[in-house]
Amino acid sequence: MDLKSKIRVIENFPKEGISFKDITTLIKDKDAFKKAVDLVVEDLKEKEVDYIVGPEARGFLFGAAVAYALEVGFIPVRKPGKLPGKTSSHEYELEYGTNTLEIHTDAIEKGKKVAIVDDLLATGGTMLSAAKLIESLGGEVVAMEFLIELESLGGRDKLGKYYINSLVQYE
Ligand code: AMP
Repeated sequence: MDLKSKIRVIENFPKEGISFKDITTLIKDKDAFKKAVDLVVEDLKEKEVDYIVGPEARGFLFGAAVAYALEVGFIPVRKPGKLPGKTSSHEYELEYGTNTLEIHTDAIEKGKKVAIVDDLLATGGTMLSAAKLIESLGGEVVAMEFLIELESLGGRDKLGKYYINSLVQYE
């Protein structure tokens, strides 16, 4: 099963110049979805993870499935104003403007080991922000797992101090 062949690439979405990696075609395929989740689970087996964190929205799709299979809890990281309890926020730079992510302040107990799961690593800004949130609550980020890595955007360098795994790579 070649996971890459299940990803649909749509050029110039959501704007000119972006080569969008569409994972809806992969998760629709039961064998491909299972394989992707199983590979991440396998990679995390020895890491004694307490929680999976998934950033909105596609991190929910894979993160929740990985958490279920690993038999650990799932914690969402969301865009501002979506989480109902007391939240901690982290703002980060985008190419144009800024983005903010939030996590429930009581979501992670001190010293817990956390793996972050998302669909795609581009510049790494989203992941770094999620990691900062987790660390601000006292959690330890033991792994970052991606279905897709866009290598030319340098995300891996930005996240240099963390363990990173990706299943499918594009230049
Ligand atoms: P970044 O913070 O730059 O690493 O961007 C990662 C987030 O943006 C991921 O959660 C993706 O969902 C989304 N993303 C960025 N670039 C693409 C792309 N070319 N195709 C699909 N999703 C993307």
